[in-house]
Amino acid sequence: MGIPLSSHHQGDCLVWGGTRNGRYAVRSGYHLLIHERAQADPGSSDTTEMSKLWHTIWSLQVPPKTRHFLWRACHESLPTRRNLHHRHIIDDPTCANCSSQVETAFHALWKCKTVQVVWQTLPWGRRLQGAPYADFMDLLHRCTQLLSTTELQLFSMVSWLIWYHRNQVRMHQPTDQITRIVPRAQELITEFTNEQDCPPVISMQPKSDVIKWKPPVEGRYKVNYDGAIFRNTNEAGLGVIIRNARGEVMGSLCQRVPFPHSIEAVEASAARCAIQFAKDLGLMEIDLEGDSKIVVDALLLSGPCITFYGHIIEDIKLIARGLCSVHFQHVKRDGNNLAHLLAKRARLNESLEVWLESVPPELVSKLVLDSSFQ
Ligand SMILES: [Zn+2]
Repeated sequence: MGIPLSSHHQGDCLVWGGTRNGRYAVRSGYHLLIHERAQADPGSSDTTEMSKLWHTIWSLQVPPKTRHFLWRACHESLPTRRNLHHRHIIDDPTCANCSSQVETAFHALWKCKTVQVVWQTLPWGRRLQGAPYADFMDLLHRCTQLLSTTELQLFSMVSWLIWYHRNQVRMHQPTDQITRIVPRAQELITEFTNEQDCPPVISMQPKSDVIKWKPPVEGRYKVNYDGAIFRNTNEAGLGVIIRNARGEVMGSLCQRVPFPHSIEAVEASAARCAIQFAKDLGLMEIDLEGDSKIVVDALLLSGPCITFYGHIIEDIKLIARGLCSVHFQHVKRDGNNLAHLLAKRARLNESLEVWLESVPPELVSKLVLDSSFQ
């Protein structure tokens, strides 16, 4: 297992012709990072090192959201002030805690003097200090070399709690003192380990004729996609939303593209856009769900798809092979409402819009409806 970091990038560019406009910060950020790494150290087997690093991280006994968080921190895809500034959401990228440096993931989680206080309470935290790190991935890489598995688990959990604490403060929500982070991280690891030792609880779902969005099982992510056609401009819209088992949004997007000759091709393009987005966000176990039976059947077909949109289907399967587990699923239109609304929304605004951990404001009420699944 490992995150495929280099082999398909040429293919990605072909797949997402519209991303060269620089608006898609998540994606361009990590491509740049990989490119820079390759430039800085062309002699080394960078991909192997990366795979080893991710294998270590993915094997840690911490909640999946924590591992996912680390991946995002490494790829600068957290909504840090630098990223929000880059996406023209805020004017000032400077850290709100220390007001002295741009808030990157590395700054927010490690470098900022307000969080150094936390790391300094850990004996190995002090050991990690002093060395110059290029970014958070660099730091994490060092951690995998220096720390034991238990320490690495604590490092992960503390990083996650620092980010959580930062967000709570930013949203004026109640939160523990920052000095409580290390003991709380230890508690969370213990809780998680105990849960793993207990047999799973099987819940009975009530029968209902109403088709509603259903969350994925714990640890997986549901990626809903849909297409829409704008006949008067000869364009199409693609909509994607990714949620976890609790219905929390990992990201959503809408994109406007030239109409690609058939409804199936639009749906297939939406599916490709969706799986690429999931991959960009570091989600390795996904349920890719759309409401076009034809496209889902084409994806489930083991042989080649011989249609005029067959190349898109093959692209999707290629990307899927780079993830840990992908289930192609069909759902009735009512279960795919948010993706449908996002696809329709692509008619407005920019040609590509991405929301990290959220949806466009006008869709929040629909999201709440979907989330009342229990
Ligand atoms: Zn700071």
